[in-house]
Amino acid sequence: MKAELITVGTELLTGQIVNTNAQFLSEKFAELGIDVFFQTTVGDNRKRLLSVIELASTRSDLVVLCGGLGPTEDDLTKQTLAEFLGRKLVFDEQASQKLDAFFALRPKHTRTPNNERQAQIIEGSMPLQNRTGLAVGGYVSVDGVRYVVLPGPPSELKPMVTEELIPLISNGHTQLYSRVLRFFGIGESQLATVLAPLIDKQVDPTLAPYAKTGEVTLRLSTKAHSQEEADSKLDVLEEKIMSVKSLDGILLKDFFYGYGDDNSLAKTAFSLLKEHDKTITAAESLTAGLFQATLADFPGSSQVFKGGYVTYSIEEKARMLDIPLSELQKHGVISSFTAKKMAEQSRRLTGADIGISLTGVAGPDELEGQPVGTVFIAIATKDKTQSLKVLIGGRTRSDVRYISTLHAFNLVRQSLLND
Ligand code: ATP
Ligand code: MG
Repeated sequence: MKAELITVGTELLTGQIVNTNAQFLSEKFAELGIDVFFQTTVGDNRKRLLSVIELASTRSDLVVLCGGLGPTEDDLTKQTLAEFLGRKLVFDEQASQKLDAFFALRPKHTRTPNNERQAQIIEGSMPLQNRTGLAVGGYVSVDGVRYVVLPGPPSELKPMVTEELIPLISNGHTQLYSRVLRFFGIGESQLATVLAPLIDKQVDPTLAPYAKTGEVTLRLSTKAHSQEEADSKLDVLEEKIMSVKSLDGILLKDFFYGYGDDNSLAKTAFSLLKEHDKTITAAESLTAGLFQATLADFPGSSQVFKGGYVTYSIEEKARMLDIPLSELQKHGVISSFTAKKMAEQSRRLTGADIGISLTGVAGPDELEGQPVGTVFIAIATKDKTQSLKVLIGGRTRSDVRYISTLHAFNLVRQSLLND
């Protein structure tokens, strides 16, 4: 099906409002697998609108007009489409009742003939009810072309599209379903390389990697008639992906941490902390509180996070965390020893179940002879303390700090999963 969008409104042409309706409709149609080949914007002008409708009717199967269903003089979409189709405007019973009820509640409002137009539809069309406003929408098929009229205000258009229009036009049609897989610890280029055999011969489902700072996501998409049908196709592809090995021979499954566009390592770790009923603290040097601030972003964080430390200088590491200064000087602050001590002491001093520490070189200058991006992260629990050395090369200072917190959240995640 070839669709075309016609957005009506002079304010759109003068740049006073952004055409978010076109974006919303295009996105919805893409999900339905309907191709949108044209988007036209035209002012509130009968003659020019007529010429746009005329052209659309020759090249599209579905013509969607939006805006200009209101009561004012410049609202002329329905009248113009009716003129083009050579049809009359008639009253829709339900919309008329809604209008009556609206004015019954507002005795001071004068009801003008223009108001009446909001309850009219083109003869022979199916009304699309407006749950959040007064102007009724409509759907009519003439000579093999389907015409749709929708109101301009997004608060009215969106519910009408999702509740009324989509069920009408998606009948029997396939929709696009997607699943997002999130990976940490493997780069986008390596992921694309090892998945090349799957990516190269893909038709449906399709597979697309996206790089984000410090992590990679894979979007799996398929056209299907239902969520169940989509799930069974995506399950097969997901299983294949997970059994592919990285260049170092590690299964991709071991880099996978979760699903979804709005997921994150921090969110995953936070959910696990809550699930396992564990509390956490941190002693942060190069990240200076970023790890703790990220935790506090989640509603309900006080359940798992009571407090922690920002120990930037060697003196404060010694003083606040009660570690002999001489020991820190002997091992250096960028060391596994210091990271472990910081994690253990933060845990001991606060009584939390888990202590995390981060110490390293954010840059731009090296420190203690260690290159920029050298970071030691440690995790201390009741049973053991582990430290991890990571090299976050070629990154800006803020990326080094951000990626360090991702490693820390990943350590928390792994520790809780192995618990
Ligand atoms: P009303 O009854 O409010 O007059 P209408 O159906 O006649 O509604 P318009 O007059 O074209 O629609 O637009 C009303 C308002 O809706 C605009 O001022 C704008 O805020 C919003 N709007 C219209 N078209 C769009 C669009 N394409 N994208 C985003 N917002 C829009
Ligand atoms: Mg209007």
